[in-house]
Amino acid sequence: DPRIMVGKRGLIMGVANDRSIAWGIAKAAADQGAQLAFTYQGEALEKRVRPLAEQVGSSLVEPCDVTEDGSIDRVFQKLGDAWGGLDFVVHAIAYSDKEELKGKYVATSRDNFLRTLDISCYSFTAVAKRAADLMPNGGSLLTLTYYGAERVMPHYNVMGVAKAALEASVRYLAVDLGGQGVRVNGLSAGPMKTLAASGIGDFRYILKWNQYNSPLRRNVTLEDVGGAGLYLVSDLSTGVTGEVHHVDCGYNIVGMKAVDAPDI
Ligand code: NAD
Repeated sequence: DPRIMVGKRGLIMGVANDRSIAWGIAKAAADQGAQLAFTYQGEALEKRVRPLAEQVGSSLVEPCDVTEDGSIDRVFQKLGDAWGGLDFVVHAIAYSDKEELKGKYVATSRDNFLRTLDISCYSFTAVAKRAADLMPNGGSLLTLTYYGAERVMPHYNVMGVAKAALEASVRYLAVDLGGQGVRVNGLSAGPMKTLAASGIGDFRYILKWNQYNSPLRRNVTLEDVGGAGLYLVSDLSTGVTGEVHHVDCGYNIVGMKAVDAPDI
């Protein structure tokens, strides 16, 4: 079997439905022979995630709320019992109150700031610690980020601040875990119509803007993100760590509106 993920075991965190970025990466990895486990947040999502997991031959499907250390512990305990080790993790989890994903960042409340940073940034560190314990011979940890970490995007607000912290933690974790061969990277995806994105103000406008102004003149697809995610969790990227890889049809290199971009 020449497929590149045969013999690899990975945990996929953050599937909500078949439009989830986590699902795109899961499919790409499963197509290449990876064995997968999934987590879902709360009972309401279980009925969506379980059938998707079954589609890729996985029956290891566990609840996990990343705001609870005990909940994360439980998942890694189960994985250790079932597999004895782990090769990769995809962390595709973020949350902020949608009342604060519109208007001005300056109005962010303390409560939502802490919750947003907890779920969207700290959870990756909490997961990395436990995952690395199951990776004595190395592995790959991948999180999802967005260009709003680097540049100000309308309405992205506190989520941009959380992504900036997440990208910095990718670098710190890469150093901490590099000695045991664990790689840590971020995939910075262009805007995609998912459940999480539906909370962001004027999201249709943002999608159009990216479509008209990115070098490839289109938005990214689940297959685009799946392919790049597969590269980062596989042995194709064994020399890559601490990196934030843009999968955005090139949008991040552009300095101004395209001269031929239509009005939105
Ligand atoms: P999604 O809604 O499909 O996925 C978000 C996931 O986060 C859901 O599965 C949700 O259950 C999970 N989650 C939220 N709070 C949680 C908690 N307390 N415990 C456990 N899980 C929790 O949306 P998505 O767009 O696929 O988002 C995945 C990642 O990609 C996020 O980090 C997001 O910021 C990032 N991202 C999205 C875009 C985009 O435009 N959609 C662009 C760049 C980066």
